[in-house]
Formats: sequence, C-alpha cells, structure tokens
Amino acid sequence: MDAEEFWESLKEERCLPPRLRSELVRLYGERGRKALEALDSGRVMQYRDFVVVAGSSGQYIVEEGFCTCHDHLFRGGLCWHLLAVQVASLVGGFREVGEWYQETWTGKA
Ligand SMILES: [Zn+2]
Repeated sequence: MDAEEFWESLKEERCLPPRLRSELVRLYGERGRKALEALDSGRVMQYRDFVVVAGSSGQYIVEEGFCTCHDHLFRGGLCWHLLAVQVASLVGGFREVGEWYQETWTGKA
C-alpha cells in the first residue's frame, strides 16, 4: 500500500483498524508512531478556536496544512502533528475541548 492508497482506505473506512495503524507507521516511520500515540492518548484536541496537538516538547496549533512546531517551520513538510490531525479528521479522532484555546494562554509565562 502506498501513501495514496492509505489515505483512500482511511477515507473509506472512517476508522483506524490495526491494518491501517501498521501501514501508517510503515509509511511514515517515527512520525506515524508519534501520531498514533497522540491519537490514542487524546492529545489531538479540537478547541473551539483551534486544533491543537500536544507533544512531549509542547503544544502546537495545526491549521490548514500548517503547524507551529519547529519541525514544520524550519524543515517544512509533513510533521507528525499534521499527520495526526489529518488522520483524526478522517476517522473522527479529535478530543473535543469546549474551551477557547486562546483563553488558555492567559496566565502562562
Ligand atoms: Zn508540527
């Protein structure tokens, strides 16, 4: 299965069976593994204003194929946050947070 077939299957199945989980890791390696981990632990979050992915080194806003992480900003391309959000949007893997993400910034250094 190549990347295109993977995304097609995901669109059709609307869920992430073990077969597609292992394809994700096979196709995207470490990025695929991290994306799965974040999805499984509810770290791909839909706030009222933004989609946010929490990783070990911080939280990143993902929007329209753009991510605020270092990896994406400096190296470009598909970081694991974008990957996680792309998967979540197809299989409904977001954890809904009924808050405004912008409001969580207040009080933070
Ligand atoms: Zn990123």
